[in-house]
Amino acid sequence: EPLDRLCVHESTDEKVPIGAFVDALSDLPVPVEVVGDDDAVGEGDAVATYRPRDWFVDAGWVHCLRAGYDEFDTDRYAAAGTPLTNSTGIHDTTVGELVAGYMLTLARRLHVYRDHQNRREWYDPPYEQPFTVDGEMVCVVGLGTIGRGVADRARGLGMDVVGVRRSGAPVDGVSTVYSPAELHAAIDDARFVVLAVPQTPETEGMFSRPEFEEMRDDAYLVNVARGPVVDEAALVDALEAGTIAGAGLDVFETEPLPEDSPLWGFEEVLVSPHEGSTTNQYHSDLAVLVEEIFHQYQSDASLRNRVA
Ligand code: NDP
Repeated sequence: EPLDRLCVHESTDEKVPIGAFVDALSDLPVPVEVVGDDDAVGEGDAVATYRPRDWFVDAGWVHCLRAGYDEFDTDRYAAAGTPLTNSTGIHDTTVGELVAGYMLTLARRLHVYRDHQNRREWYDPPYEQPFTVDGEMVCVVGLGTIGRGVADRARGLGMDVVGVRRSGAPVDGVSTVYSPAELHAAIDDARFVVLAVPQTPETEGMFSRPEFEEMRDDAYLVNVARGPVVDEAALVDALEAGTIAGAGLDVFETEPLPEDSPLWGFEEVLVSPHEGSTTNQYHSDLAVLVEEIFHQYQSDASLRNRVA
């Protein structure tokens, strides 16, 4: 059955201004309507949404407006035969730039200067602290859209890029690609370890005490994947003990990060509020992807980014 409506769930407003997103979809040949939790959908409806709801499974097609679809019950979609698609493929530049920013900030000490600026202090750092990312090694764990976006930028900054992916298959511009079983060998020489894997049963707790022990004590962990990929208590212990030097974190076990989390308090930890994908053009990036998949659905083609 062809689609005759696109329903944009109100949860979308958590990430992008919903009106701008609806406007960006105005080229679609069907009406685009905002739906809330008192509405219902049927087979002629497509749903675009940030958060899952049980009743979406009655639609003809459901699109998750996130690359990480870990909150969605893919088994239910598979059982119902309702295609579910996600938003991978569009975060190479946005999240890649955030990671480049973390690495440059930590290396060139911008976070420390800003802390001192807040107190109007002209500050002279210990001579041994500032370094260039040029010539340093970064290990990118997860070499999909985001991992490659990070790798491209890191290479542009003169870094030696190694990485880890499920398949272990080579990636252009990444000097060594390791398999998940070789994780420790992949991370032990790196000055920065960047996490860009999806949250799955295999990746939950992938970074815990043994991995922090394996990392250099002057290495920084950057997590732009999902909080549960890292054992946060182990990370706090590693930061306190100096097992690693610091971190750049966009994602956390509990979001918003609780006010009493020790992670807020480390000078060498940068906390960003899960905004890696967010820019003033994000609604438009998402709309282009939704339109592409909509047309594939209408012409019975296979759907890009189908995850169930
Ligand atoms: P992709 O699907 O394009 O890439 C995922 C990569 O992870 C692939 O290279 C895959 O390997 C690898 N991978 C999967 N499982 C493992 C494993 N067990 N061990 C090692 N590598 C593994 O996803 P994206 O790059 O688009 O997004 C990645 C994740 O980033 C999302 O799932 C989401 O959770 C998070 N994200 C965070 C954002 C933020 O704002 N901070 C924004 C967007 C996404 P292979 O190539 O071999 O399949």
